Amino acid sequence: MILEKLKEKENKIIELRRILHQYPEIAHKEYETQKIILEYLENIGIEGKKVAGTGVIATIEGKNRGKTVALRADMDALAIREENDVSYKSKNDGFMHACGHDNHMSMIYGAALVLNEMKDKLNGNIRIIFQPAEEEGTLGGAKPMIEQGAIENVDYILGMHVWPDLPEGVLGLRSGPFFAAADNIIIEILGKGGHGAKPDQAVDPIMVSSKVIDSLHTISGREIDPLEPFVITIGSIHGGTSHNIIPDKVEMMGTVRTMDKKTREIMENKLNRIISGITSAFNANYKFKYIYGYPILVNDPWVTDFVRNIASGILGNENVVIAKQTMGGEDFAYYLEKVPGTFMVLGTYNEKLGFTNNVHTSRFNVNEKILAIGSTIFVESALALLNYSWTKNNPS
Ligand SMILES: [Zn+2]
Ligand SMILES: [Zn+2]
Repeated sequence: MILEKLKEKENKIIELRRILHQYPEIAHKEYETQKIILEYLENIGIEGKKVAGTGVIATIEGKNRGKTVALRADMDALAIREENDVSYKSKNDGFMHACGHDNHMSMIYGAALVLNEMKDKLNGNIRIIFQPAEEEGTLGGAKPMIEQGAIENVDYILGMHVWPDLPEGVLGLRSGPFFAAADNIIIEILGKGGHGAKPDQAVDPIMVSSKVIDSLHTISGREIDPLEPFVITIGSIHGGTSHNIIPDKVEMMGTVRTMDKKTREIMENKLNRIISGITSAFNANYKFKYIYGYPILVNDPWVTDFVRNIASGILGNENVVIAKQTMGGEDFAYYLEKVPGTFMVLGTYNEKLGFTNNVHTSRFNVNEKILAIGSTIFVESALALLNYSWTKNNPS
C-alpha cells in the first residue's frame, strides 16, 4: 500500500533527483543543495532547519507521543567529470553525484512526503536528516550534525546507500560490523641526498621507502589474523627530481582499513614499529602520522533483523540478502555509536539497462525506479518501529 502510494509520487521524487543531479557540490559546499532541499520540504509543509553549515534537519511530529525514528541522507558529490549522456547531466563541470547521494536525498524526501501526510496517525516522530560531507573522509559531516543536535531525542536511525554490487531492487542488510574504519597515514622517509652514482655516500630514501611499503603489506597474515579483514594502501608517493640525484626525502600517503575495534587500536603502534625498524636498519629517519577517520560502522542486530522482516514483506525473501562486508568507510558509523539503527544497501546493477558502473566512476547511474522502493523501505520500517514501540509502551 505504501509502495503504491510512493509509485504515485514517483515523478516528484525523480524530479528532485534530477535537479540535485544537475547541481552536484562537494563536501561542505552543498549550498545550492541545501537551498533546494529546504524549498522542496517547504513545498510539502515541512519546515527544515539549517544545521552544521550546509546540512538540513526537520521533524515530523506525529499526533501520538512515542519514539523518534531518524532517516538520514548524505548530500555531497565528487570531483569527477560526468560522462553519462543524460538530459539531467551535471551542470557543474568537473563535479558529479558519482556516489549516488542525489538518490539518497530523493528517497528520504519521498519518505518524508508520505510520512508527513500520515502525521495524524503517527505514533511518534520522524527526524529527517540531510547531512553534508560524507565523502570528506576525516572530519566528515555526521559528527558536526550530531554535535548540533541532529539526533537529539532520536531512538532509532536508518540510512541507505545505492549499491551496484547487488542486482537492482535487492536489499542488502548486515548485523554488526559492516563498513570498515577508514584511517589515513602520512609517512616521511628522511635520508641523505647525494649523487645517483654514489649511493654508498648517501642514504637513499627511495630505496628505504620500497622496503617500508613492502613490509607494510605483510601485516595481514604476519601481524594479524589472515582471516581478519584488513587493507593498507599507499596511494601517493613523492620523492626526487631527476635520474641521477638521490633526494633527501620521500613522502607517502595511504589508507588503513580495519573491521575490528581492537585491531584498529593496535595499528598505529604496529605501523610505527615497522617503519621505525626498517628505517633504522638503513640509517634513515622518519616521520609518521596516523590520522583517525570514520569508525567501524556497526549495525544494531535487533534493528537490522526488524528491518529485514519488514523489507522481506515488501520485496519478498528472495530480494533481501545478507550484504557482504565492505572495506569502504561511511560516516553513518558516528550515528550508530550513539543510537541503535541500521545502514542498508540497495542494489542498482542492471545489465539490460546498462547500469553496471560502480560508484565513484564517471558513468555511474541508476534506474530511477529504485527511488520509490528505497522510500518505501524507509517509510514501512519507520512506521513499524514507531508502532512496535508504541504498542509495547502503551498497552492500553
Ligand atoms: Zn562515495
Ligand atoms: Zn556514498
